[in-house]
Amino acid sequence: MRFLVFSDIHGNLEAMAAVLAAAHAEFDSTLFLGDLVGYGPNPNECADLLCLQPNLTAIVGNHDVAALGEIDLDTFNPQAKVATAWTQRALADETRRFLESLGQVEELAGLTAVHGSPRDPIWEYLETLDQAPENFARFTTSLCLNGHTHVPRVFSQAPETRTMRVEPPTEGETLATDDAVRRIINAGSVGQPRDGDPRAAYGLLDTDTKKFTFRRVEYDIGVTQSKIVAAGLPEALAERLTYGF
Ligand code: ZN
Repeated sequence: MRFLVFSDIHGNLEAMAAVLAAAHAEFDSTLFLGDLVGYGPNPNECADLLCLQPNLTAIVGNHDVAALGEIDLDTFNPQAKVATAWTQRALADETRRFLESLGQVEELAGLTAVHGSPRDPIWEYLETLDQAPENFARFTTSLCLNGHTHVPRVFSQAPETRTMRVEPPTEGETLATDDAVRRIINAGSVGQPRDGDPRAAYGLLDTDTKKFTFRRVEYDIGVTQSKIVAAGLPEALAERLTYGF
């Protein structure tokens, strides 16, 4: 199977559409890793578009849970709090039902999918090597895919020595996802990148040839920014898209 792997769309329809257009000939299955809504101005449109994608597997993210009103918003920073309250008001019944149907962990095609980390599927930001041992111990497949940090990252565990490493991938890089080396791969964020590159980030996974490729694509950031401001969402949420942070 050829999967489009993407995460953290955050209601950014222009970024999502650009990813789907760029990847359209390269996938027949869809794996979405959470945070469909929150921050961005088009939560319902993004949900509708996601549900149209082929062989969809999707999991829930912390912002999706927040939009459903299932957590205490005091754990969010002030901007995220305002944006979540906006999203809760904007959410259509159909979008709400879709988000409510999503689980926290999925195992499919020999991989494990989570939003945050294997240890804490919704909330843990997996960023540093000291987090690796406990997390590699919490899933049984050779490959785990995650999101949540909005920063592309690859954690690897070598066979035999079990030595672990973490490194940022380069754009267009293709990794072999053979069973010997266990990996936790984060392709970055579609709708709000935070690695200094404002382009939408996504990945392509071929489970037959066992290859994972990191991709970026430009989108019309100005359109999304105008919508954020027009919706009355915090302007800082529009500004940060310019810088990819
Ligand atoms: Zn997110």
